Amino acid sequence: MSITVPARRLVLATANRGKLKELRELLAEQDCAVLSQAEFNVESVEETGLTFIENALLKARHAAEQSGLPAVADDSGLVVDALEGRPGIHSARFAGEDASDADNVALLLEKLDGVPEPHRGARFVCAMALLRFPSDPVPLICEGSWQGRIAMSPRGSGGFGYDPVFITADGRTSAELSAAEKNRLSHRGQAVRELVRRLPAAWPAA
Ligand code: IMP
Repeated sequence: MSITVPARRLVLATANRGKLKELRELLAEQDCAVLSQAEFNVESVEETGLTFIENALLKARHAAEQSGLPAVADDSGLVVDALEGRPGIHSARFAGEDASDADNVALLLEKLDGVPEPHRGARFVCAMALLRFPSDPVPLICEGSWQGRIAMSPRGSGGFGYDPVFITADGRTSAELSAAEKNRLSHRGQAVRELVRRLPAAWPAA
């Protein structure tokens, strides 16, 4: 019996099992194994960047340093026009360090109180970074952006985070889409597909 070893191996810098499973399946098609950062005891790193790209790079660099393998990380959030881009990189903790999704949504609606529909534009964005080694001077950076607007009140029970108040192009909130529909449209889906598409050229298999 012969054992085939994937041509490439990388670590995904996330504690989220859903993201790990998704990337593992997609990158298997590119002959690339995706390992969990937990296997290398990689702890989370302080996200001190001012942009999604900077934070994705910080997380990927940290995971590459700790694991000794190439690493991918993503950073995502909600960018609201009427709030000068907030909550942005602070999306997860908009209402405070231990804020729940409901707390964050409530604060967002409060900040947008009185803002009429035409001025409630927003987008979800995602940055993904692949570093082949910690000092890689040419990281592969892929981005996704999903345009919508913020609802007056929450609707729908799917998804997570700000999904119940993010109105998509067809008028439904992203919490009213199936997982497959959301993945086809979403910022993260776009970024992951771009990473899968560009990986072979950015990191040729030996
Ligand atoms: P992360 O970088 O993927 O952990 O996302 C940071 C935060 O952005 C999350 O905790 C959510 O509040 C928000 N966020 C990112 N992606 C989504 C999404 O697809 N739906 C709703 N909220 C999201």
